[in-house]
Amino acid sequence: LIQMNGITKSYGSNVVLRDIDLAVRRQEVVVVIGPSGSGKSTLLRCMNLLERPDGGDVRIKGQSLTAKGVDIAAVRAEVGMVFQRFNLFPHMSVLDNVMLAPVQVRKRPPEEAKAKALALLAKVGLTEKADAKPESLSGGQAQRVAIARALAMEPEILLFDEPTSALDPEMVGEVLAVMKTLAAEGMTMVVVTHEMGFAREVGDRLLFMEQGAIVEEGVPREMFESPRQERTKLFLSKVL
Ligand code: ATP
Ligand code: MG
Repeated sequence: LIQMNGITKSYGSNVVLRDIDLAVRRQEVVVVIGPSGSGKSTLLRCMNLLERPDGGDVRIKGQSLTAKGVDIAAVRAEVGMVFQRFNLFPHMSVLDNVMLAPVQVRKRPPEEAKAKALALLAKVGLTEKADAKPESLSGGQAQRVAIARALAMEPEILLFDEPTSALDPEMVGEVLAVMKTLAAEGMTMVVVTHEMGFAREVGDRLLFMEQGAIVEEGVPREMFESPRQERTKLFLSKVL
């Protein structure tokens, strides 16, 4: 579903991605871990054109993102993203936050978008917050709205960049539970997270990144138990 070949990215003299090859299959859940600055966020951002790679090619369903004339909005609709900070629009109700992009970008009729948004709010357990303003939500609730908002575009792929890192510990579980449900329903997901329990339980594949390269990858449980690379071993010893 996602195919990255020889992706490179630098900011000035800072080489952030070095020749990354990565293929993500349909319905796969890939978890990405690695130290701060290793390029995890940049890797995700290259998957939906929030960043343009300097070299290499990204394909979504076989279609190159780096080709000329690619419809960036269409790519972003297909490859949804959930960030550490939820970025909800503060002046709009929860329902309007979820409806906005389908109506404005996908040109869905408002009534249809509303029905869909209400269904998604039910899915993330927030039916009763439809008319609330984002400021009245807890962090965990806001993040669940952000997930509903991403789902409203009916993406084929969801990217998560440390979706629980900004949350109080007691709210991490409710967000991970929603993500786990999505995974069980067959959503293709790439998740940057420090939640090793989630990685082990939900991840089909774990990637360890360091200095812009994928150093090791494998089945999460196997990698936790017997990492092959010293660098992976060292990193895991700090986070497990
Ligand atoms: P973290 O765990 O802290 O989120 P990360 O693995 O997500 O780190 P990236 O955010 O991808 O790392 O950053 C990789 C490197 O690229 C860092 O050295 C960072 O300073 C640099 N970088 C990222 N975005 C930019 C930017 N827009 N302009 C300049 N440098 C950037
Ligand atoms: Mg990051």
